[in-house]
Amino acid sequence: MGKLFVISGASGVGKSTVLKQVMEARKDLSFSVSATTRSPRPGEVDGQSYYFITKDRFEEMIRGNEFLEYDAHMDNYYGTPEAQLEEKLAKGNVILDIEPNGAFNVRKRRSDAVLIFIAPPSLEELERRLRSRGDTPEEQIRLRLNRVQWEMEQSRQYDYTVINDQVQTCADKILTIIAKNSDEI
Ligand code: 5GP
Repeated sequence: MGKLFVISGASGVGKSTVLKQVMEARKDLSFSVSATTRSPRPGEVDGQSYYFITKDRFEEMIRGNEFLEYDAHMDNYYGTPEAQLEEKLAKGNVILDIEPNGAFNVRKRRSDAVLIFIAPPSLEELERRLRSRGDTPEEQIRLRLNRVQWEMEQSRQYDYTVINDQVQTCADKILTIIAKNSDEI
């Protein structure tokens, strides 16, 4: 039976780049693919990034008790399908990329899950990164920054907080946490 690592971090902190490095360094880790009702972004592949499903299908899965946890976030549903997760855990360690509400719900159901929070070096730096994308309306930037502030407050309840000031250093720290909690070091 593998160990469950739950990783959270606001969009804009470079979480996906860090996670990519972590997954490349440890081929034994598998990634739990969430279901979502949001539309795919360019480059996202159904069944790899997410299972992109309709609201009706998502609600059917809620009624069928098919999620370990789910949450409504930014007008969309996101959830962790339990059967798929169990299958992956039977084979080894699994990474879950979910937001704090989901992370705490996972912890309630699986008290041995390890919660890791990826934080931006500072809120100012994150604001700069969000603005430098140049494609986000001002109101959305404000909403996101409020959300990030809330998420950073939640980070106190995580087992570990890792600051992403440099991708490789951040990935290395996460790899050390994974090794330590898998009884490897
Ligand atoms: P995005 O739309 O940018 O891919 O993800 C938005 C947020 O939803 C991120 O914070 C991500 O971690 C979170 N998320 C992704 N999958 C799940 C899930 O299955 N459950 C929960 N609770 N959050 C998720």
